[in-house]
Amino acid sequence: VIEIRNLHKSYGTLEVLKGVDIAAPAGHVVAMIGSSGSGKSTLLRCCNLLEDSQQGDVVFCGEPVKWRGHGMGRHPADRAQVVRIRTNLSMVFQSFNLWSHMTVLQNIMEAPVTVLRRDPREVEEKARAYLAKVGIADKADAWPAQLSGGQQQRAAIARALCMEPKALLFDEPTSALDPELEQEVIRVIKALAQEGRTMIIVTHDMKLAADVAHHVVFLHKGKIEEQGPPEQIFGNPRSERLRGFLSASQ
Ligand code: ATP
Ligand code: MG
Repeated sequence: VIEIRNLHKSYGTLEVLKGVDIAAPAGHVVAMIGSSGSGKSTLLRCCNLLEDSQQGDVVFCGEPVKWRGHGMGRHPADRAQVVRIRTNLSMVFQSFNLWSHMTVLQNIMEAPVTVLRRDPREVEEKARAYLAKVGIADKADAWPAQLSGGQQQRAAIARALCMEPKALLFDEPTSALDPELEQEVIRVIKALAQEGRTMIIVTHDMKLAADVAHHVVFLHKGKIEEQGPPEQIFGNPRSERLRGFLSASQ
């Protein structure tokens, strides 16, 4: 569904991604791990074009992103393509990002109705079904501030699902949560993996990565240091740096 080839990304003189390749084929779950500052969030944001990059390809469903200009002045050339990609790669952030002035139901319905111009009655029906799926059907009319962190994050996941995206991108979806609330969200992510959803999950939770991922990518200072199936990455890591990282994150 989403593929990135040889991506280079700098902020000014700071080179954050130094030629990264990553691919999430349909039905696959890719987990991305690595130290703070290794470029995980940046790479995820490059996938749905929230960031510009200087070099490399972003390919969505076989369709390469068209760029205008080059190097530092490179931008996506086709606005409709950007919207198509962004609406098809729904992102769930660490800090929930629900709109505080809207109820949970309004949060979920907003983009499908205003961006995708779907019929509000159909969207509401779907929104309620997704809320039930993540276990908070009774919170439809609550305000975000009335929800626990775990409930807010599940509402954010329902909002992402209601866009009916081709893939989901998660950036540390459980790291702002207390351990017991974390489990509620992990259960939802596991259920999505079981359904065969295409996902890229940035996580500090090695157990989650080992449980759900088909493929694990270890990013180190803007480069892929090692990647492979979870059995290799967690059971038989080759790189010294990965071994160090894993023993430090236990
Ligand atoms: P963490 O695990 O802490 O979330 P990360 O792997 O997600 O880290 P990124 O957020 O991708 O790391 O950041 C990679 C590097 O890019 C860091 O050195 C960071 O300081 C830098 N960086 C990120 N965003 C910006 C920005 N908007 N402007 C300048 N530098 C940035
Ligand atoms: Mg990050």
